[in-house]
Amino acid sequence: MRVLVISDIHANLAAFQAVLQDAKGKWDQLWCLGDVIGYGPNPNECVALLREQDHISLSGNHDWAVLGKIDITIFNPEARKAIEWTRSVVSSESYNYLDGLPTMIEMAPFTLAHASPRQPVWEYILDIGTAAANLEHFNTPYCLVGHTHVPILFAEEIGSNKVLPYGAAVGTPIQLNKRRCIINPGSVGQPRDSDPRAAYVLLDTEKLIWEFNRVEYPVRQTQESMRLAGIPVRLARRLEFGW
Ligand code: ZN
Repeated sequence: MRVLVISDIHANLAAFQAVLQDAKGKWDQLWCLGDVIGYGPNPNECVALLREQDHISLSGNHDWAVLGKIDITIFNPEARKAIEWTRSVVSSESYNYLDGLPTMIEMAPFTLAHASPRQPVWEYILDIGTAAANLEHFNTPYCLVGHTHVPILFAEEIGSNKVLPYGAAVGTPIQLNKRRCIINPGSVGQPRDSDPRAAYVLLDTEKLIWEFNRVEYPVRQTQESMRLAGIPVRLARRLEFGW
């Protein structure tokens, strides 16, 4: 099966549409690793567009925050404002859909978790130590995570309990092999690797080929919608820098 793997749409409809357009005809099922909403200006539209696809989705920490499943005082003030705004506009349909999503799914040979297999809603896997510590928290060869908004692949070093990081080079398909991996496709709606383009992955689950992709989208359009919604300016500005 050909899978479109995405994460962290964060209510950025223009970015989500660009990904679907760019990947059109190249996938059979969409896997979304959570944080469909929070930060961006189009939560209900993004949930609706996701639901139109043949898909599987997780929920993430921002989804949980909007649902009231976690205390929002732990978020920074701007993220909190965006969550409060999202709460004020989220429809009962979107709410009920997100409320029914898990934070982790095992579908051998893949485990899907929003943040990490050890802490599916909380933990940031940004370094090799955290990635290595997470290897013992999933049973399958491969674990797909989002949450950091940074596309990266951590592969186990054979014969040790260490991992090595591999950057997300676009246009260089990666053959997954016997080495266990934790892989992050990056973020659709708020990339944080200094590349403002929306990130997505095409995965062939039979050939086990993983391909990082990026696509430009009209950042200005999202920024303008955020301005009109009264979402903090800094959250809109960061989109054009990719952090
Ligand atoms: Zn996120």
